[in-house]
This record gives sequence, C-alpha cells and structure tokens, in this order.
Amino acid sequence: MKTGLITSDTSQNHDTGPGHPEQIARVSIIVDNFKKLNNKNLIWKKPSKVSDEIILTTHEINYLNLVKSSFPKNGFSSLDGDTIISPGSRDATFDAVGSIITAIDGVENREFKNAFCAVRPPGHHSGQNKAAGFCILNSISIGANYLLEKYKYNKIAIIDFDVHHGNGTQDIFYDDKNVLFISTHQYPYYPGTGSEKEKGKYNNIYNIPLPAGTNSEEYLNAFEFVLKRLKEFKPEFILISAGFDAHEDDPLAQFSLKTNDYYHITKRILEISKIFCKGKVVSILEGGYDLKALQDSSKRHVDALIEFN
Ligand SMILES: [Zn+2]
Repeated sequence: MKTGLITSDTSQNHDTGPGHPEQIARVSIIVDNFKKLNNKNLIWKKPSKVSDEIILTTHEINYLNLVKSSFPKNGFSSLDGDTIISPGSRDATFDAVGSIITAIDGVENREFKNAFCAVRPPGHHSGQNKAAGFCILNSISIGANYLLEKYKYNKIAIIDFDVHHGNGTQDIFYDDKNVLFISTHQYPYYPGTGSEKEKGKYNNIYNIPLPAGTNSEEYLNAFEFVLKRLKEFKPEFILISAGFDAHEDDPLAQFSLKTNDYYHITKRILEISKIFCKGKVVSILEGGYDLKALQDSSKRHVDALIEFN
C-alpha cells in the first residue's frame, strides 16, 4: 500500500505578514519537493471540508465563532501576539483540520497505509478556547477525537516531537483516559509548560523535557522512553505532531538534531505501530522554520512512512 500526502493550495493563502517565521514558503517548499521527486508511492489528496460538529468535539463553540468572525476582509488581524491572520487564513485554517480527517478516513478505508498532512497553520499550541503560538485550531486533537467518536477507538496515542511543548493538545486531553499524549521538547522554553510533573488525570500525559543544546545522541536516548511508554499503552492508532524545529539549523530553538534523525524516529514509531495497530499512523506538520532543514527533514520523515510495510 501507498502513503497519503494530504495538502491544499489554501496553505499558501495564509499570509502572516512580512518577516513572520510561520511563512507561506514552509508548505510550498515541502510540496514542491515532493512534486519534483514524483514518488509513485505517494497518493496525493486534498482535504475534505470539515463540519463544525467535528471541530466542536475539541473546541468551544464561542471560540469557533470568534475564529470565524476574526478573519479580516483585507490586511492583517491577530488572534494572539504571535498568531497573525489575513483573509486567506480562513480556508487554510479549516483545510488544515480537514487534512487530518481525510488522512484518518483514508487509512481506515485502506486507501493508503499511513499519511502525512503538509498543511499550515500548525495546531498543537491551540487550546479549547484559544489561539496561541501560530496555532488557531488544534488539528491533531480534532483528529484524535474523530478517531474516538467515529471509529470508536479507545486508545489513541499522540506523539509530539516538535521542539516546543504541545500545550494545547495536553490541555485538551488532560482528563481523557483514552488519549496518551507524549511530548519531547526544549524546557524551560516557550510555551512554559511541559514539565514531567504534568501527568494528566489518568497518567495519560508523558512529558520528556530536555535542555537547550540537546544533541542527536541525547535526543535519541530520550526517545527510547517515548517508545517504551508507547508499547505499554498499546495504541489502536498513532497520531504524530511532526514539528521539525528541533533540527540543528532551526532559528527558533536550540536543539541540534540532524535531518536523518527524523527518519530514524519515524521508523521506530512505525515498528511499534506494526505490533499494536497494523501500522495505522497519521502525521501532521507542526513547526519547523529553517526552510531547507524543513524540506529535507519532512522528506526523510515521509521516506520512512513510504518504506514501512
Ligand atoms: Zn515548534
């Protein structure tokens, strides 16, 4: 079976203004690279239109209404200090959510074996009722709730290897025994959360905070604890918050992962998915702000998804 690549041109309409690190080119360089490589093992799909009902499994209605009314007719507006929106941000925001739904349905329908969503804005800092850190709606959390509600799963694992703590995802699932959230991140750092003391009501949150300067070897050693916990949980489906900003070239953080580390950690996650959930893995882009590192790292991540069998 092939790998799904879910993306939409609307990502390119989400203009965050001059000099903003969460820029249009982030998705276009990833997508252009995959177009150029023309790998026949990828199935390209556009996101489905997402219903309010699906978003409201995760976000409060007042917040969804606020988001919908916030997109400006022209120029820029902001949902928080870092989260800038423009007229084209509306379609990009809803397509980012739609991408994970399309990816999940595609895996469940056996249209493809696993999938990567190359979309923006990212989502993991967004909470039930707030935007934060470039994130508007929490796509991965909406995906997890969709798996619980539509496909009646009871054990969803979310692995977040973005260099920043996925505080929005943690908040959304803090009291949810059906979702295990595992995050590796630079700590102390933005957004300030993510200590190992934050464990969730059911011990379903597992934070692995790591200091600035963490290198490949140190990170991969820490990642063994991610894999151990994942095995103990026995997930029925695995979602990945794939941020590539722990790369050594990333300007927004101080880890020094190499491009190939993303291939390695993806392979390790997939090995576990094979044991417990028939390889059902859906990944979605979060951060990653050095364009070249993002392009190469996302390619190695997808290489691992493609090679898995
Ligand atoms: Zn990040």
